[in-house]
Amino acid sequence: MSARLLDGRDLARRLAPALRTRVAALPRPPGLAVVLVGEDPASAVYVERKHERAERLGFHQATIRLPVDTPQGALEALIDELNVDPRIDGVLVQLPLPSQIDAGAVLGRILPEKDVDGFHVVNTGRLSQGLAALVPCTPLGVMRLIADAGLPLAGCDALVVGRSNIVGRPMAMLLEQAHATVTLAHSRTRNLEDHVRRADLVVAAVGRPDHIRGAWIKPGAVVIDVGINRLADGSLVGDVEFGPAAARAGAITPVPGGVGPMTIAMLMENTVTAAERRQGLAR
Ligand code: NDP
Repeated sequence: MSARLLDGRDLARRLAPALRTRVAALPRPPGLAVVLVGEDPASAVYVERKHERAERLGFHQATIRLPVDTPQGALEALIDELNVDPRIDGVLVQLPLPSQIDAGAVLGRILPEKDVDGFHVVNTGRLSQGLAALVPCTPLGVMRLIADAGLPLAGCDALVVGRSNIVGRPMAMLLEQAHATVTLAHSRTRNLEDHVRRADLVVAAVGRPDHIRGAWIKPGAVVIDVGINRLADGSLVGDVEFGPAAARAGAITPVPGGVGPMTIAMLMENTVTAAERRQGLAR
């Protein structure tokens, strides 16, 4: 391996003291409510990690677990309660939701100023216009990793693979705002290999193990692997064929330990930002 490893765990740890200082400056602790519907094991693990991190940072927090057959109306009523709860600054509904739930309607019901996942159309719209917004945590975390490593983005050819509202689309917007020349690839993209071979920066957010072959990576390119895929043996891998990619790349994120910890770190930051704005300490 010749690539520099972009260690998200380490960066998340290094960001914590500044966040604690911001928390200490607030008149009351930031409040985060995390809602989990059902018992999806991966979601339960993510919710537990968010709970632990928020607790360690001294947040006021509520983790609300609802049964898998929760009706739409009950979930929306809970969102309404959290929207008016003065102790709660951030509301997060863990995805995916069970099939009887209209996820768009639920996410759209969260007050934009409490939408710490950054999925509300108001935040998406503000982000698209370069206005202050709560930005989706995963792409925000990727931008922090890139900035921390001092990797230049202006003018570079950036390829984002995957166009979900959670990762790919906001990622493309943030990279474009950092003056990269951005290509957004998806399942209908022809000749993905050619796009990868040209890219100075590849962000993979597909959800398919080894989808991006190591041999396609341009020598010296930066590779950010957002994918989290569990193999039959229980191990976690990303979307990029790690070993061969690391032999060619200039810098690469591991899975696990790359983007994942940064996603949680950015959720904590967004919650503090929301609390500061709601308590009149930030714009
Ligand atoms: P989605 O399933 O919502 O989106 C996947 C995207 O990949 C779609 O845009 C789809 O295209 C595209 N795609 C599918 N097949 C191909 C293909 N053959 N070639 C190119 N593109 C393709 O996933 P998410 O964005 O929610 O998540 C992506 C991955 O990132 C998952 O592994 C997820 O677990 C992980 N993840 C990791 C996080 C972290 O903190 N590290 C946080 C969030 C997600 P189309 O739109 O055409 O269908």
